[in-house]
Parts: sequence; structure tokens; C-alpha cells
Amino acid sequence: MIEDLSRLLELQVQDREADQLRRRAEAIPKETAKVLGDVETVKAEVALRKKELEASQKRRRDAEHEVGRLDGEIQKLQGQQFLLKTNKDFAAMTREIDLLKEKRSDLETQVILLLDSEDEFVGAVRRAEKEFEAVTAKASAETSRLDSTLAGIRADLERVLEARARLTEKLAPELRSRYERIREGKHGIAVVPVVKGSCGGCFTALPPQRINDVRLGAKVLACEGCGRLLVWSGDGAEVI
Ligand SMILES: [Zn+2]
Repeated sequence: MIEDLSRLLELQVQDREADQLRRRAEAIPKETAKVLGDVETVKAEVALRKKELEASQKRRRDAEHEVGRLDGEIQKLQGQQFLLKTNKDFAAMTREIDLLKEKRSDLETQVILLLDSEDEFVGAVRRAEKEFEAVTAKASAETSRLDSTLAGIRADLERVLEARARLTEKLAPELRSRYERIREGKHGIAVVPVVKGSCGGCFTALPPQRINDVRLGAKVLACEGCGRLLVWSGDGAEVI
């Protein structure tokens, strides 16, 4: 029985290690997703800055186009003005031409302002692209690091599961299924030591006779409080 109990303890060590490895393995895709999410955020920033630049360029081109159109209109009116017969008509057309010139002048100012802001937008695009390059390079290094970490964890897990399989082969099937059942119901801890006269799992005080029986190790005994299997490892020693 003592051998069985020590195998159970070993099995529990392997199981806990396997659980820990699985938890670590499960966390990795989340980390990878976060890294890739950071890349997407910066990518969206680049797209936004480019859109801002394009919108500004379009506003400037529209204004330039309108300046050209007004130029044509002004020239057309100036050509027609000399054909007018009366001073009144001439003066009215002068006012019309002046209004168009004023409009053109406003638009030209607008073009200059838009050119200034365009420089800022170009700068913002460059900065975002630079950040994108840096974040992408960092992400690529980080994801390959995470990939190799995951591969390492998987290899460790495989090794632990092989060791576990070798252990379970040596265990009596009833004891093995009892262990599995308790482990499932008790958050992975099925075997506990006696600690200061109590169950090391739920801390229920154990009768002296039971402690003695556990110490002798002639049979497998469970705690009446939590149902976990009790082992002797020198009262108070840490075995789990
Ligand atoms: Zn207990």
C-alpha cells in the first residue's frame, strides 16, 4: 500500500504539473492575439492618417480647380466688358468681376492654408508608418518567441503525460479511479499529508488511531471531512 500511496503522490505531482502546463499553453494564444491586436491598432492609425491627408489634398485640389474656373470666368467677363455700351452696364460688370476676384483671392488663401496643413498630415502619416514598422517588427519577434514557448510547453506536457501513463500502469485500477474521482471533485488535490494531526486538505482534526494507521501505511485511508486520501510524510511535511 505504501508503494501505491507514493505512486499516487507522484501521479499527483505529474497531474499538477500537467495542469499548470495546460494553463500556460492556454494563455499563449491570448498573448499572441494581444500582440497582433496592437499591430492592427497601429495599422488603423496609419489608414486614418492617410485618409486625413487625402481629404486635405482633395479639398486643396478642389479649391485650386475653383480658382482656375474663376480665372476663366473673370477673363471671359473682362473680354465682354469692352463690348458694353453704357457706363452703367460697364460699372455693373466691374462690380461682378471684383466680386469674382475677391472670391478667387479667398480661395487662394485657402489653398495656402491647406498646403500648410497638408505638411502636418504628411508628417502624421510618416510618424504612424514608422510606428507601424516598429510595432510590426516587435510583434514578429514576440509572436515567434510565443510560438517557441508554446512548442516548449507542449513538449514538456508530452513528457509529463508519458511519465503519468507509466505511473498509472503500475496502479491498481480501483485506486486509480478513486484518485481520479477525488481529484476531479477537489480541484486537483486528491492526496494530502497529515499536517499537525489534521488533514492537510481540509484541516479537519484526525483521530489518533487514524493518524497511526496512516503512518503505518497498511491501507489507503481517506479523510472523513473531505474524502481526500491521506499519506504520511512525517507530520507537517510539505508533499503537495
Ligand atoms: Zn480532509
